Amino acid sequence: PQDTVNIVVVGSGGAGFSASVAAFDKGASVILIEKEPVIGGNAKLAAGGMNAAWTDQQKAKGIEDSLELMTKDTMKGGRNLNDPALVDVLVSHSKGSVDWMTAMGADLSDVGRMGGASVNRTHRPTGGAGVGAHVIQVLYDNAVKRDIDMRMNTRGIEILKDDSGNVKGLLVKGMYKGYYWIKADAVILATGGFAKNNERVSKLDPKLKGFVSTNQPGATGDGIDVAANAGAALQDMQYIQAHPTLSVKGGVMVTEAVRGNGAILVNREGKRFVNEITTRDKAAAAILEQTGKTAYLIFDDSVRKSLKKIDKYIGLGVVPSADSLVKLGKLENIDGKALTETVARYNTLVTSGKDTDFERPNLPRALNEGNYYAIEVTPGVHHTMGGVKIDSKAEIMNAKQQVIPGLYGAGEVTGGVHGANRLGGNAISDIVTFGRLAGEEAAKYSKK
Ligand code: ADP
Repeated sequence: PQDTVNIVVVGSGGAGFSASVAAFDKGASVILIEKEPVIGGNAKLAAGGMNAAWTDQQKAKGIEDSLELMTKDTMKGGRNLNDPALVDVLVSHSKGSVDWMTAMGADLSDVGRMGGASVNRTHRPTGGAGVGAHVIQVLYDNAVKRDIDMRMNTRGIEILKDDSGNVKGLLVKGMYKGYYWIKADAVILATGGFAKNNERVSKLDPKLKGFVSTNQPGATGDGIDVAANAGAALQDMQYIQAHPTLSVKGGVMVTEAVRGNGAILVNREGKRFVNEITTRDKAAAAILEQTGKTAYLIFDDSVRKSLKKIDKYIGLGVVPSADSLVKLGKLENIDGKALTETVARYNTLVTSGKDTDFERPNLPRALNEGNYYAIEVTPGVHHTMGGVKIDSKAEIMNAKQQVIPGLYGAGEVTGGVHGANRLGGNAISDIVTFGRLAGEEAAKYSKK
């Protein structure tokens, strides 16, 4: 069997949906395929927001921002390893992308701040709704309105090309239909990253072996192989965003500041096992050696009051608390007697000013005020910065820096936008901007 269309979009995250809607609005016929039974990819899990500079929403709140400042923050966050041409696209389109989403029915009027930003530029729905779920819902509704052909349980397998190397379609495998090919002028890969694929992750960065992931099951990176088999160059594959303390219950990264402000790490046996302020990789390795490969951040009200962020975690419902350490231990199946002894011992170290047990360099406060709290944590992988190489028209390039005619990429499947490290709020911005761009460019190309 065979279908014929202008453009096939692979992946139903934010990049794939943005590409589909934008291509359709430029007059192209579109088939969107998704290998999982559900739409939305990781995009629908995103909790932060959408970074953009110089927006009406910022102006309405009196926030002064500029394209230069967003560029500077993004490059600094990426350790200056970002592709400057792609950062330029991300930043200069950011306001337009917020406006585009807003025109389609999104509410991005609240503006907050995430790590690495010099000013408030993270756009999100008012009232604290998850930005990813909202953006995906709006894009999905718009795709339905346009009657775009969406096929779940359908995996993109291989790019097909004609004798002169132009893309002519995609081999796919439907769960019920089996293999068939879709004839198309252009293919847009929007297949996301590979954070859920620990085999691949740990091959690229052995320190991350055994880490769990915040990602959805489809984030395995097979789209990167589809692109590579079609001749795409890959870049920055070794840059993988991981964190030693991911909340087991909440799937969110728990900032290092919780430890910095005085929390200790204990295992299920109620014992400390590491200098809590050691480097990320050492903290992660130590946690993985504990029972169940998890540990607990333990703190009291004085730590909680010292850091606003903690109330956010509490708000997520992932921070059990009790008025004694024994009760806290009961809630979480931690040895409460040992925990009580550990905290008492830790408090004497704080008083003496020297951690003779684990050489922790800072001892900001004793843990003896009010309620006690526990956050169960484990090391986790969150985002993969590397991927296929694209130019500033979202065209996928080969190792000779030549465009592969008819092949486009957008979102986490691409490398270069975020350099060595992605800033919070830049992923949603990336997928809307580059997804839309890929859709519009592919539509233009298909008309040639
Ligand atoms: P982005 O944030 O870049 O849009 P997401 O992770 O949100 O990326 O979405 C990517 C989607 O692509 C996921 O839903 C994933 O299941 C899907 N996907 C990955 N590989 C394939 C493939 N080979 N064929 C079809 N869909 C795929």
